[in-house]
Amino acid sequence: MIILGIETSCDDTSISLVKKNAKGFKILSNVVSSQIKIHATYGGVVPNLAAREHLKNIEPCLKQAMKEAKNPKIDLIAVTHGPGLIPSLLVGVNFAKALAYNCKKPIIGINHIEGHIYANWLDNSKIEFPVLALVVSGGHTQLVLMEKHNKYKLLGETRDDAVGEAFDKVAKLLGLGYPGGPIISQRAEKGNPKKFNLPRPMMNRQNFDFSFSGLKTAVLYEVRKTWGQSPVKLGLSPDYINDMAASFQQAAIDVLINKTIKAAKKYKVKNVILSGGVAANQELRNQLQKAVKKELSHVSFKMPEIKLCTDNAAMIAAVAFYKQSLKLLIREENKNKFFCSSLTPNYKKKPTSKQSWLHINANSNLKLFT
Ligand code: ADP
Ligand code: MG
Repeated sequence: MIILGIETSCDDTSISLVKKNAKGFKILSNVVSSQIKIHATYGGVVPNLAAREHLKNIEPCLKQAMKEAKNPKIDLIAVTHGPGLIPSLLVGVNFAKALAYNCKKPIIGINHIEGHIYANWLDNSKIEFPVLALVVSGGHTQLVLMEKHNKYKLLGETRDDAVGEAFDKVAKLLGLGYPGGPIISQRAEKGNPKKFNLPRPMMNRQNFDFSFSGLKTAVLYEVRKTWGQSPVKLGLSPDYINDMAASFQQAAIDVLINKTIKAAKKYKVKNVILSGGVAANQELRNQLQKAVKKELSHVSFKMPEIKLCTDNAAMIAAVAFYKQSLKLLIREENKNKFFCSSLTPNYKKKPTSKQSWLHINANSNLKLFT
């Protein structure tokens, strides 16, 4: 079967064509149009500007994705319908609905976080349940337990900033620009992670929640101590920035790894998987992999290749395959109208009414756990 994935939840417009057969997934195309240059001027994503760019880019992305995939016949359309920025989500959702209605194809609404998790299935390696997923992105930091496909239990999440948001804000206060994650990790490579003694918030609490806003503030106070009230204007020395980036990054990684290992032990999982934009961080990838090997001898570790960690539509298509194969489309439509809907549990049948596209709505606070 061939699935067309559409992703516009934040500032990346992405369209992908993914083929699934007995051999597994094959990504035929995965076009991502980034808006970083536009939002960098403002130091963060401006929702209405993002929506305008999605509108401009979505059709060219579709054309390019179809061309790269050699114009295959599509069986199912999958679109991110939350969580995310409402103006951005609306563009993708309405585009997908119009496409589905016009081409008479079934359509399914996908949760963006579920997409990040399922990026791990795209390379067809065997992942045994139960699975513990560490989801780390610009909007989310969660530990999710999966007993089987499509069954999620939230073990813990951030009580304030997401870890990616903390990377972005620390980069901003060090005068490094946007987005912060890739710049902090580059600067950290040249710095000393032990130079500054930053806190590891909530690391020793007996729960699986996180907090990153205090860590960000600790960086601010440390910078002010040395450089005064307006550190960025004064101009920090390159060595100071490198050491601070490394110290902050290590503090964040320590908390993420500590809680993940504890949760994996408690719930006796067979696999730990990493996902979300911050999973592109090389130091986190290396250190978590080592920690799982050292502390959890019978547990496997899995992470998506770097280009599939940040927002893309192939991961959205991957989720759609498991939903349709589990015949979840109709059942979930009854359970929760805006979570997911389709005309038919059998993708081969032609849609019979206009219901499917009518019932998919953009929802900025869509939860994975319904
Ligand atoms: P969203 O949060 O909209 O779902 P992504 O999943 O693509 O978007 O995640 C974006 C976040 O990932 C941003 O906060 C960005 O700073 C962070 N990020 C990207 N690359 C890295 C990296 N190498 N190290 C740390 N954080 C990163
Ligand atoms: Mg994301």
